[in-house]
Amino acid sequence: MNLDFEKKLTIPMDVKKMFPLEEAVRISIDKRRTMIKNIISGKDDRLLLVIGPCSADNEESVIDYTLRLKSIQEKVEDKILIVPRVFTNKPRTTGDGYKGLLHQPDPSEKPDVFKGIIATREMHMRVVKESGFACADEMLYPENYRYLDDILGYVTVGARSVENQQHRLTASGVEVPVGMKNPTSGDLSVMMNAINAAQHKHSFIYRGWAVHSFGNEYAHAVLRGYTNSKGRSRPNYHYEDLETVLNLYKDSNLSNPSVIIDTNHANSCKNPFEQPRIIDEVMNNRKNNPELKKLIKGFLVESYIEDGAQKIGEGIYGKSITDPCLGWEKTEKLILNITKY
Ligand code: PEP
Ligand code: MN
Repeated sequence: MNLDFEKKLTIPMDVKKMFPLEEAVRISIDKRRTMIKNIISGKDDRLLLVIGPCSADNEESVIDYTLRLKSIQEKVEDKILIVPRVFTNKPRTTGDGYKGLLHQPDPSEKPDVFKGIIATREMHMRVVKESGFACADEMLYPENYRYLDDILGYVTVGARSVENQQHRLTASGVEVPVGMKNPTSGDLSVMMNAINAAQHKHSFIYRGWAVHSFGNEYAHAVLRGYTNSKGRSRPNYHYEDLETVLNLYKDSNLSNPSVIIDTNHANSCKNPFEQPRIIDEVMNNRKNNPELKKLIKGFLVESYIEDGAQKIGEGIYGKSITDPCLGWEKTEKLILNITKY
């Protein structure tokens, strides 16, 4: 192969021994995981709000942001369950650009995945310990999931990965809810097939082992909008889109029919300020149709401390270095507004 094997990486079991979870933190994650599962299964009718920066690029600002979420969580507890978005892997359309904390623990320096694995576990551990939340991350590289499998409360499989067999098979062995995004083309059958695959048992190769999964009954749909044949972003959160997914679920034998609406990406045309309006529309549609109310379990919002995005190196604290985000003030309003429905 045309590859330079630079360094053998520490295996997940050893990284976990180096950075073990305290018992009290483990118990608190377990409780939050149960709550998240209960929302997906319909036992708990609160809304799930997966919210945070497009990329968790900086430990201090991510902690600062999550502690702000913590204080608001207490106020909205009876209506909303917050799951901080701590996304440490970024899929890149052409492979170029910042690939997340895992690759670049310092965004302005060269990639260092050895340091990145440690930085990722340390950041996730600090967030759960200081905030009491269970967090979400994207499973961009299925082989790496075990570095965080004792910490995360929610996982997404991204629009560029959802048709990939290894992602689907690994998701079938993940113990927390996995949100399968619609692909960038918008083909909903790809997303439904991914949910189907994840909900069933499989035998496959994982980290050099022959493994058997048990199926993940909490795998579900995430609508993130799509790109049409002319390269334009198109939404898929409108009433008719939601009815279409409802019918796809009805025609399937899938467990726990559930949809999470990703309010940024192609749904907002990457205009993060559209997110409150999108939530309003979906909440109204939920209100007017009991079947949709049951189906739509929550939202995935891109939000940070500052509005918008910056280039790497600009160094503005709490401002996204990937997709533009909604700043804190607007985020607070958005969360409180959801409780009015
Ligand atoms: C993201 O969540 O930042 C992301 C890249 O999403 P998607 O896979 O929907 O493009
Ligand atoms: Mn994003």
